Amino acid sequence: MSRIPLFAQILIALVLAVVVGYVSTPESTLYPVYEFLATLFLNALKMIIVPLVMASIIIGVAGIGGTHGLGRLGGRTLLFYITTSFFAIVTGLLLVNIIAPGVVSAELAQQMIAMAGKEAAGELPDLAGRDISGLWDVFLSMVPPNIIAAGANGQLLGLIFFAILYGYFLSRIDEPFAESQYNFWQGVLQIMMKITELIMKFAPLGVFALVAKVMAGIDPDFLSEFASTIGLFFFTVVLALLAHLLITLPVLLYFVARVNPLRHFRAMAPALLTAFSTASSSATLPLTMECVEKNAGVSNRTTSFVLPLGATVNMDGTALYECVVAIFIAQLYGMELSFTTQFLIVWTALITSIGVAGIPSASLVAITIILGTIGLPLEAIAVVWLVDRVLDMMRTAVNIFSDSCGAVIIGKLEGEQGILESAARNGP
Ligand code: ASP
Repeated sequence: MSRIPLFAQILIALVLAVVVGYVSTPESTLYPVYEFLATLFLNALKMIIVPLVMASIIIGVAGIGGTHGLGRLGGRTLLFYITTSFFAIVTGLLLVNIIAPGVVSAELAQQMIAMAGKEAAGELPDLAGRDISGLWDVFLSMVPPNIIAAGANGQLLGLIFFAILYGYFLSRIDEPFAESQYNFWQGVLQIMMKITELIMKFAPLGVFALVAKVMAGIDPDFLSEFASTIGLFFFTVVLALLAHLLITLPVLLYFVARVNPLRHFRAMAPALLTAFSTASSSATLPLTMECVEKNAGVSNRTTSFVLPLGATVNMDGTALYECVVAIFIAQLYGMELSFTTQFLIVWTALITSIGVAGIPSASLVAITIILGTIGLPLEAIAVVWLVDRVLDMMRTAVNIFSDSCGAVIIGKLEGEQGILESAARNGP
């Protein structure tokens, strides 16, 4: 098995999981086994997130040195992230308006909303009052009152802010403390990368279990009854995600970074497949960093700043999805979509995609905020709940691919040599 490249191993696992998962249900004997292995794999990935994010940001920021370097890198990173998210939302907006999957008879729409509500009853997270992703909350969560609690609750944004300060002042304290601190965090970073390599060896097994579990849990009844509407909605999201993944981002890679996008896809294959299976940008972060550094050849200085930040604030696939779902639901309700309403949707999708956590189904909460903003009932989210998981897998892959493109483009703009240059460095 070890002769087969890792991404091919993961791909085989994925195909097997789809087949096995299709013939199983949550009652099947093997289901607890999938569940156990999937949780084990996810836990292993999550286990290293806090030390990895801390060490990589501290080393990244300390390595950049002066305020000038940090300001420039930070500015470029944020500009790239906001621009690509905006492009993604506009792609979704155009396609959902053209394809109009939610424009159906009022009767069918009502039936669908009612049945979806019943199906999802008890399963939907309590959405009322969860307005965590507003703009001000994003700022508030940046300065956590308790750094340990922030780490324990997966509030990466707070952790990142603290690590930026830590790294910044690390380069401003006296010797011998500065050097010993730097060496300590450098050591932590290298150990985390080694643990990532070890976890990656189990990725095929983890991916198999995760995907088999998702496939076994899909309810075929709802899907067959509303196949045409749900199918068209699904198709719209997939088409928009593919357009962003295969056109917009490669065009940026080619014209801004002047690299071959195909090579980048190859370099990122293991991370893309893991993002797809875990539906979590945060859990995939160790692999994203490994692929961007080892396979694409971006420096540690760039990846360690750009990628942890990207996994939390840059979610192109999520932003696109939020926009498509909000308009799809508005179409089902027969709502008049004025320019102002659409603008409001685009804006809210952009802001909330920054606040959304890199965990499965996180955008559902953001979507309820959009629905509330444009005056639609929050429960309508149930319509997409049943197909959300598979679309979550796809949008998460787009999310991490965009982060990795950011690292390549920013690395190039910072004047780095050797990014995606020789084919030899590219093999996973
Ligand atoms: N699952 C996504 C991520 O981790 C977030 C979302 O769209 O729900 O990137």
